[in-house]
Amino acid sequence: MGARDDGTAEEIPGILHLDMDAFFASIEVRDDPSLRGLPVVVGGAGARGVVAAASYPARSRGIRSAMPMASARRLAPDLVIVPPRIDHYRTVSRQVMGILGDVVADIEQISVDEAFLDVRGARRLFGEPEQIADLLRRRIREELGLPSSVGGSVSRAVAKIASARAKPDGMLIVPAARTAEFLAPLPVGAISGIGPKAQASLERLGVRTIGQLREIPPATLARALGPRAREVARLADGSDRTGLGRRVKDRSLGTERTWDEDLTDHEEVRRRITVMADDVASQLRRAGFVGRTVVLKLRAPDGTTITRSSTLDQPTASGERLRELVVALWERERPSMPRVRLAGVRATHLEPSAGIAVQSELTARSAGWSDLEAAMDRARDRFGSSSLGRGSTLAPGRPAPRGDSAVDGPADGPVDRAVDGPVDTPADARADPSAEASDGPRGPGADGLFPAGWGMPHGDSSHISG
Ligand SMILES: [Mg+2]
Repeated sequence: MGARDDGTAEEIPGILHLDMDAFFASIEVRDDPSLRGLPVVVGGAGARGVVAAASYPARSRGIRSAMPMASARRLAPDLVIVPPRIDHYRTVSRQVMGILGDVVADIEQISVDEAFLDVRGARRLFGEPEQIADLLRRRIREELGLPSSVGGSVSRAVAKIASARAKPDGMLIVPAARTAEFLAPLPVGAISGIGPKAQASLERLGVRTIGQLREIPPATLARALGPRAREVARLADGSDRTGLGRRVKDRSLGTERTWDEDLTDHEEVRRRITVMADDVASQLRRAGFVGRTVVLKLRAPDGTTITRSSTLDQPTASGERLRELVVALWERERPSMPRVRLAGVRATHLEPSAGIAVQSELTARSAGWSDLEAAMDRARDRFGSSSLGRGSTLAPGRPAPRGDSAVDGPADGPVDRAVDGPVDTPADARADPSAEASDGPRGPGADGLFPAGWGMPHGDSSHISG
């Protein structure tokens, strides 16, 4: 990354992370203003339902994404449970990303409601990163009526930490020179990818904050964190400069296998590649992508390898669709492949599937949006699509009718974010939708520029992410 791309001495904190606040819940409250100020969650109301998204008033009661609905009800007897409207959230997601695309060319969407932006190329037209962040947040607020938060930094990891600290409805830009200082007091869990297990190993070393993490010897850190240690150390000392990821369309996901014995039965080959197709589809859903092209690779015992691909009009993460495609490819190729030693199935030309959360180490608790989607598909099959309509919003406090459970997710259910930000104290009086509704930057200082708020945009150490 060109650190000083404009030739000045000042390094530009031009990597922004924009994250919608309590996205699904905010959409529901926007669409039904009578819900404003109430503890609203989106998710399945049934016995095994989980919280997919929680409004800030719900969060102030301790309710979190991926929490079993039964626990959420215990925390808030007046809980309002709204069944998810996936297609609607997708539409709004596209609108959000459209606004980002109007202003910034370099965008990496990482989930339905989050994106990294490299705004260094947009400065001439739109101003400094904080002005661009302000513009984006204002347009999303004015055109879509939804709150969002933005973090900015010289690296994507720090930008993401900053956006979590800016929530709700805030902005926090961390100047390059103050990165280490900003990070030092934060809990190690603020780092994306440092989950409860890694936190526990660090805790055994007496490390609770990112500042303390910087003090321990590299070898010790490597023992505690494994291969990620170096990346984490770079982040902790403020020298990380990782920008946007590779273009999604360059990515691919796949699986392949070599067999000890050649496969000679074409039905057997067919069976195995359909299993692979299912596996690839499930990998895609888990990663939050859909693929436009499916590739079948076959190798004969003599090493002859062929790859054949099929490209779809509509990208997919459907196992059934991928199975059909690989089987069709196999039927065409099998005369030339009487014996198969290796087979592989791969999906390429991936794009983010709006409405699908990207998995990460941090979301061990979360089954991902795709499972929510799968559960909704099942619910649709069982009850018909009308069961997922808005009419089934529950009155506060009333038990859920069984048939209304659009999402009977697994206990470790879906979340609406790819990676949870730091979640400290649940109760925060300021976590209130009226605050979210207020216009203008809410971050530290008048312009949301670090360091006026020192990573504590709300004036205390309690932060709620979402
Ligand atoms: Mg969000």
